Amino acid sequence: MGILLLLGGCSEYKSASKPKAQGGILDLTQGEFADNVIALDGEWEFYWGQFLTPGAGEKGTNGYIQVPGSWNKYLENSRQTGDGYGTYRLELLTKENARLALKIPRMFTAYEFWVNGELIATGGKVGETRETMTPQYLPQVAFFQAQAGSNEILIKVSNFYHRSGGMLENIQLGTEREILSLRYKALAREFFVFGSLMIIGIYHLALFFFRKKSIASLCFGLFCLLIGLRTFIVGERFFIFLFPDFSWEIAHKIQTLTYYLGVPFMLMYFRSVYPKYFHRRIIKLAQIIAVVFTLILLLTPARIFTALNPVYQIGTVLAIFYIAFALGRLTIAKEKGSILISFGALALLLTSLNDVIFHSIWLNDGGTPFLKTFIRTGNLSSAGQLVFALTNSLTLAKKFSDSLQKEEVLSAELTEINTHLDDLVLQRTKELEELNKKVEEQKKELEQANRSLKKLTLMDPLTELWNRRKYNKALEREWRRCLRSKSPLSLILMDLDHFKEFNDFYGHKAGDECLVKISGILKDSLSSSAIAARYGGEEFIILLPDTKKNDALKIAEMLREKVESQMIPHRKSSASPYVTISIGVTSTIPDRNSSYEELFKLADRALYQAKGAGRNRVVFAPWWDQ
Ligand code: GH3
Ligand code: MG
Ligand code: MG
Repeated sequence: MGILLLLGGCSEYKSASKPKAQGGILDLTQGEFADNVIALDGEWEFYWGQFLTPGAGEKGTNGYIQVPGSWNKYLENSRQTGDGYGTYRLELLTKENARLALKIPRMFTAYEFWVNGELIATGGKVGETRETMTPQYLPQVAFFQAQAGSNEILIKVSNFYHRSGGMLENIQLGTEREILSLRYKALAREFFVFGSLMIIGIYHLALFFFRKKSIASLCFGLFCLLIGLRTFIVGERFFIFLFPDFSWEIAHKIQTLTYYLGVPFMLMYFRSVYPKYFHRRIIKLAQIIAVVFTLILLLTPARIFTALNPVYQIGTVLAIFYIAFALGRLTIAKEKGSILISFGALALLLTSLNDVIFHSIWLNDGGTPFLKTFIRTGNLSSAGQLVFALTNSLTLAKKFSDSLQKEEVLSAELTEINTHLDDLVLQRTKELEELNKKVEEQKKELEQANRSLKKLTLMDPLTELWNRRKYNKALEREWRRCLRSKSPLSLILMDLDHFKEFNDFYGHKAGDECLVKISGILKDSLSSSAIAARYGGEEFIILLPDTKKNDALKIAEMLREKVESQMIPHRKSSASPYVTISIGVTSTIPDRNSSYEELFKLADRALYQAKGAGRNRVVFAPWWDQ
């Protein structure tokens, strides 16, 4: 609330009983003006082309001029330009002696302010030519002792620098307290606006610095800095107060530059926030126009570029219409943040319009009294600018926080997906592991099957002893091994006696069972190094590596006895009432001159001999016997 009061703190006086200067005299003896601030408006005596000496009393020779207003249209100013010099004079009638204060505005473009023959304020240096004068905008507060009765106010003004000349703004008169309070309020307001705009501007530039994508922040930040700077230079012109020697030309150029650049920056900002509503071509056009005017500003003195200002002002009004139109459209379309932005823009547009009109030649030189009742100050737009900056900061902040929130939601979703993903991956991994295990098991089974299959090809299915193939391989291998190690190798060949008769009598099935039984005896009785195989039908062969003749014979005899001791009945055998076997044994230490075929032949011969000798016996065939 305080801010609003501060911003609105420029309502100077109660206009109801406002005294006005007439015929160069301002009569203040009638009203009470202890609490009022009075504008010294109205008809002043004016002396074109003369610097009057205070108190000299040259009177009534030159006619009157309307204050405030430029002297361009003044009759004696035949060329009707702002160039020239003259003296303003006003007779002030007061009731009593009092110490009073004046709030003196800037004048165009240098002045000396005299009251009752005393110089109380100057701005720049007045002169009769461009060379002898120094322009300066210096609004200030000055004090003087008013005498009861007549007081003479005399203001020498010269201008060879600006398009318009003279007193364009009000001089305000009041008690010290009132006038100082006006000045302080105005300064406080401007510092507030300046500081706020600077901080908003820097903040948005920082946003852009850290996030180069946010062009809206860049344009908006620059716009805020521009209008903030402008606030410091125009209005109470504290900047000039701080740097009184600062070149008037340069200060004026900076002031105008902030205006020239502000327009395209604002358009660019709007386009970056609502690209659909602001056409690129129009922004481009505004940029080009701004660049052209900036060049003119940089290359020409204030006298010239200020004369071209109205053209830019027309362009500005068009831009304002365009922006108003676009904002209207996006408010109707209920775009995000449109109401806030439109509100801020409206504040800016209205206050800017106020200022543009106030500074226009139209008002100053044409002097439309009706408009002047509305537009009394040329510095409303800084308040509008602040409102605009605030509403847009809010909009941008909302935009940022919205996108941040979106990001948060997104990242939360992503995290959830991620955790789910973890679970999923875990599950998949588990499944895969299980599958892998299965495959591994199957592989093992397969290997096992493969091995058994391989074994099967080397094994006799009925007796589950090795078959002849395995025996052949083993014989070959053992022969070579024993050849190398010069160890003995023995061979046992055995055959069931009268097995044909057994089959014929007891049946083939019983024959098979008998074969299995005898195989069992072989398996149980032989050491692991012995290799027993079914050689054919009812013939078995046993390879005994590293076994000497005697040991082989012992083994053969042991086997024969074991089979006999089984007492498997065999009624048709001539050798025994039980199943018996005949065995041929041979043994040798392999050497290069012999072969394993010979070994088998010998064993076979021994077996044949055993059969011939009555069966159920062991016969040894010595190596040399071949
Ligand atoms: P010998 O005492 O002279 O050896 O007389 P044998 O009858 O045992 O000899 P032979 O070679 O004349 O007969 C072998 C018999 O073995 C023939 C067949 O009936 C029997 N036999 C061969 N293989 C099998 C088999 O796998 N199962 C069965 N049940 N009998 C078989
Ligand atoms: Mg046989
Ligand atoms: Mg036989």
